[in-house]
Amino acid sequence: MSEKQKLLKELPSVDEILKSNDGVKWCRAYPRRYVLRAIRDVIDMRRKEILEVSSSDVSIEGMSGDIEMKIEKLSAFSLKPVINATGIVIHTNLGRSILSEKILANVKKVAGSYSNLEYNLEAGRRGKRYAHITEILREVTGAEDALIVNNNAAAVLLCLSALAKGKEVIVSRGELVEIGGSFRVPDIMSLSGAILREVGTTNKTHLHDYKNAINENTALILKVHQSNYRISGFTEDVPAADLKKLSEKYHIPVMYDLGSGCMIDLNPYGIHSEPSVQEIIKSGVDVVTFSGDKLLGGPQGGVIVGRKEYIEKLQKNPLTRAIRVDKLTLAAFEATLMEYLDEDKAVENIPTLKMLLQKPEKIKARAKKIALLLKRKVKAAKIEITEDTSKSGGGSLPEIEFPTYAVLVSPENIAVNDLEKRLRKGSPAIVARIKDNALLLDARTIREDEIGSLVKGVHAALY
Ligand SMILES: *Cc1c(COP(=O)(O)O)cnc(C)c1O
Repeated sequence: MSEKQKLLKELPSVDEILKSNDGVKWCRAYPRRYVLRAIRDVIDMRRKEILEVSSSDVSIEGMSGDIEMKIEKLSAFSLKPVINATGIVIHTNLGRSILSEKILANVKKVAGSYSNLEYNLEAGRRGKRYAHITEILREVTGAEDALIVNNNAAAVLLCLSALAKGKEVIVSRGELVEIGGSFRVPDIMSLSGAILREVGTTNKTHLHDYKNAINENTALILKVHQSNYRISGFTEDVPAADLKKLSEKYHIPVMYDLGSGCMIDLNPYGIHSEPSVQEIIKSGVDVVTFSGDKLLGGPQGGVIVGRKEYIEKLQKNPLTRAIRVDKLTLAAFEATLMEYLDEDKAVENIPTLKMLLQKPEKIKARAKKIALLLKRKVKAAKIEITEDTSKSGGGSLPEIEFPTYAVLVSPENIAVNDLEKRLRKGSPAIVARIKDNALLLDARTIREDEIGSLVKGVHAALY
């Protein structure tokens, strides 16, 4: 018998491996179909090896390492945590806002138990799903009434459909925006059944442009926050308050798609370009919509606040049922909104606001700590601290550069592109930027409790 034949004969069967100690252990811990698939794959690999090079380790112990690796890969979750070292706080591809432990605790409590989601415990009869967030939203925004749907795109679609289907909606040409993920104002408008009535020009729209466009078929004046771009230079747009004054004469409501939906005053932080939800409500706008997971820092959602007569109309629209939020979202929202009762608590306890508004010295201290631990652990790279700027992301505050501190890693034995790739594919995955032929780890978005894993990950990727 040749060596080849001998080895082929010794190759264990699927059943033998399944019945081994490891096989029994795997079947307890992992889905059986993945255990079988991994065993078959590794047996096939060994058989090929024998046929090609006449040698292979065919003992069960010799094969179990490969099998286990395959099983782990097959049964790993697809959606998993990532360390965000990009410095972009509201990174849409990385899940936008993250939730604090306190908010997560409320989600866990509500999701793991029956709840009064649609049951009025006082009256002992059916209750309203949205009642849980109405009061708190009225309290923090100053609006008469409120509603939450799946996301802001859905909120805009619902408002246009319920308030202006078959009728005209006036929008400035400077505000016909496209947001990432194919949200475009003209497309949403046609989907809703409302008719877009463009006025003004890309850079300038005046109050009289709106006034001249009003006719008996006008249902709504829509203002859209430019969110992810700015037009500068020879420009003019009409403030929401002026639109409200104009519309009152004609009894037409004004709606404002605020996009990000900031609920604190950013002026003390040197940011003067972002109107707060409260300001816009105060200016008299009838319906305001914004995202839950951008500057608000909550779960994905579309918040609608405004006058009771319009919110009631929205609640009665059948589309609301199709885009309704679940109890997890409501639990996260209620806990997030509670933080806004005191602005300083919001800034301290909501991760998005905290990361965005933290003092550069704090970021520097964290960068220093990361650099120190990296220097201690890794040898094959130059480690330095650098000043840089980070972005808010998520289509908010596009013009603002937030001063930050980052750790630069210049690998000596591998290309920086390879380092970036290895980190991305590592466990936990680390997403970082490349700058001037070095890997840049922005300390702004790296949490204190992630530093250990980050250092381990970089170390593993360099060897
Ligand atoms: C982000 C944004 C949207 C879409 O909001 P989602 O919550 O992502 O659906 C709509 N309008 C504006 C102006 C935005 O900035």
